[in-house]
Amino acid sequence: MCYTVRMDNVYDVIVVGGGIAGYSAALTLKSLKRQTLWLGAELFGGKLLSAEYVRNYPGFSGNGAAFAARLREQMEREGISFTRARADGVYAGEPFTVTAGEQTFFAHAVILATGVSQRGAVKGEEAFLGRGVSYCAVCDGALYRGKVIAAVVASEKYAEEVEYLAGFAKEVHAFCLYRDARFHAGNITVHPQAPLAVEGGLRAEALALKDGRLPVDGVFLLRDAAPPAALVGGLAAEDGHVQTDRAMRTNLAGLFAAGDVTGRPYQYVKAAGEGLTAAYSAHAYLSEKQP
Ligand SMILES: Cc1cc2nc3c(=O)[nH]c(=O)nc-3n(C[C@H](O)[C@H](O)[C@H](O)COP(=O)(O)OP(=O)(O)OC[C@H]3O[C@@H](n4cnc5c(N)ncnc54)[C@H](O)[C@@H]3O)c2cc1C
Repeated sequence: MCYTVRMDNVYDVIVVGGGIAGYSAALTLKSLKRQTLWLGAELFGGKLLSAEYVRNYPGFSGNGAAFAARLREQMEREGISFTRARADGVYAGEPFTVTAGEQTFFAHAVILATGVSQRGAVKGEEAFLGRGVSYCAVCDGALYRGKVIAAVVASEKYAEEVEYLAGFAKEVHAFCLYRDARFHAGNITVHPQAPLAVEGGLRAEALALKDGRLPVDGVFLLRDAAPPAALVGGLAAEDGHVQTDRAMRTNLAGLFAAGDVTGRPYQYVKAAGEGLTAAYSAHAYLSEKQP
């Protein structure tokens, strides 16, 4: 990738992820007066809204929607802004580059707060990452012109990406993990089951199914959070979680991580605490670089 970067376009920090870990990081960075871009695929969506009753967050009891409403209120009061964008690549360097479809953003430090998504995970996917497995239809769809693609689709909101793939592919096999999946394109076959594993040799070649094997040229896994190593090249991760120290530093200088993406327990209060710690660590990192 080759860009000319105007340094006045470079944020101090980009926070990726619109959950509570990302919010806590953005809130703390605001109090530290750091120029911050907070972006995410959705704001306080999915997990927060689906909590039936939160009883373990100090000072709050209620359902997820009420919790999200409180967070939004505070966000407005504190003047925190949010940019809706799904990052598809984070490239370490000085500055860091974060890509989201057609958009490109730059920062001196990045905090990854992308959560985890177990729904739609398929055995073997990480082994074939970049070798026939992709998490981004818009980024990689064109590579499969005239080919047979499988898409494991975690929710209806990714239906548009499946249609997009159908525009290139000869055939798309959509394994939809939600009810009543419907598509307009004639070359999409819906399978109402999850595949068991991605199989292959040098590249992904097939999906193992309960009742056989489906040969494919590529597999797209369309869900809320891809494994962090798929987003950031060279990032140390284990079992789908980013490895960090207690200051939420990763193995890449200037890259920090917070929340569910760093591992269990998956809890709001842990995510919020780590978001704060990551923000302070990013601030200290920048202060050392630019005293
Ligand atoms: C049904 C349910 C009930 C729960 N109840 C409780 C409870 O009562 N108490 C409790 O403490 N915890 C509860 N949890 C756990 C809690 O929801 C999580 O621990 C918490 O949401 C983690 O926050 P996070 O910010 O790390 O991740 P998330 O809330 O998952 O936020 C991550 C965000 O990043 C976004 N994202 C992912 N990839 C990208 C990308 N590439 N680019 C941009 N954005 C991206 C995602 O869309 C998501 O919005 C519950 C979880 C569930 C599913």
